[in-house]
Amino acid sequence: MQDREQADFFARNALSRMTVLGIPPTPENFLVWYGYFSAKPPTLKKAVDLLIAGGRPADTVLTEEIYRRFFAQGVETAEVMEASETVDTLLARLMERVSAQARGAEAYGGALADAATELKGGEIGGIVTRLVEETHRMAALNRDMQAHLRAAGSEIDGLRQSLGEAREQAETDALTAIANRKRFDQTIRKAIADSVERGEALTLLMVDIDHFKRFNDTHGHQVGDQVLRLVAKTLTDCVRAGDLPARYGGEEFAVVLPKTGIQVARPIAERIRTTLAARKIIRRNTGEGLGGITISIGAALYQPGETPAALVARADSALYAAKRQGRNRLVVEGESAG
Ligand code: GH3
Ligand code: MG
Ligand code: MG
Repeated sequence: MQDREQADFFARNALSRMTVLGIPPTPENFLVWYGYFSAKPPTLKKAVDLLIAGGRPADTVLTEEIYRRFFAQGVETAEVMEASETVDTLLARLMERVSAQARGAEAYGGALADAATELKGGEIGGIVTRLVEETHRMAALNRDMQAHLRAAGSEIDGLRQSLGEAREQAETDALTAIANRKRFDQTIRKAIADSVERGEALTLLMVDIDHFKRFNDTHGHQVGDQVLRLVAKTLTDCVRAGDLPARYGGEEFAVVLPKTGIQVARPIAERIRTTLAARKIIRRNTGEGLGGITISIGAALYQPGETPAALVARADSALYAAKRQGRNRLVVEGESAG
């Protein structure tokens, strides 16, 4: 109740301030001013106050700038990608036009050359010969221009590719080479939106290595890292195209299973668990067998209306139930212990 009253209060403040400042009440602008009054994140309020104290008018431009800074991560790279595509299209069109012109100039040059032959000698013949030369020069310039445009085009292609690679890298975990937390957060948000929109089931698995601290303490951090890679590989091997295994943090992993109910998720989770349990860890430099490793898994089916954080929390509580019940097992949230 108190939360609700507070939210009401922040929302009313945000709207009335936006009205006073003449800022259009779009969802993005509202998010900024709601964030300002609720001080969430606290740095947002500080940033707005600093800008205003520095003499910036509290207007739509400032609001958009704050929105981009605090809420629209990743949007900029998308914008750059889009812009480079636009430039590409323009270049292609320009190139077409220049080459058509070059073709025209060549044909025209050919016709003039014929005329010059017919008019051999004489004053007109001389003029036409000069015209032929000029036309050839023009055609050569056009070809030059085409080459420049082509070079610019491939440079843009290169830039776009490195941008794509940078983005890919920013969303990949360096140790295990699977998706990192950032991509997980984006994927779960998108999966929830799709699930709500299409009325399809969505299941989340949270995975945690059993007694990993002990394993690290016994065999060293490097072998521990090797185990993290093995778990990541096992997850990747056991899921279908369209599923997303990710390193959630430390020795915890998550798997997003879109269009999947518990009945289908259960055998997938069991396959992950048993596949990993059957694998043997071997110390690389000595070939020494270090035994096996197991994982516990918590599964939760998405409940329409809940936030990503709430879904993660339910899968997490199932995971901890699996730990309590003895580890190396799967527990589905909401099902009785067993
Ligand atoms: P439980 O079965 O209850 O999950 O026990 P646990 O020992 O796995 O859990 P705990 O949370 O006590 O320990 C987690 C360990 O994971 C501690 C830390 O050394 C290890 N760990 C976390 N991140 C990394 C990493 O990047 N590399 C390595 N080698 N170990 C990691
Ligand atoms: Mg843990
Ligand atoms: Mg653990």
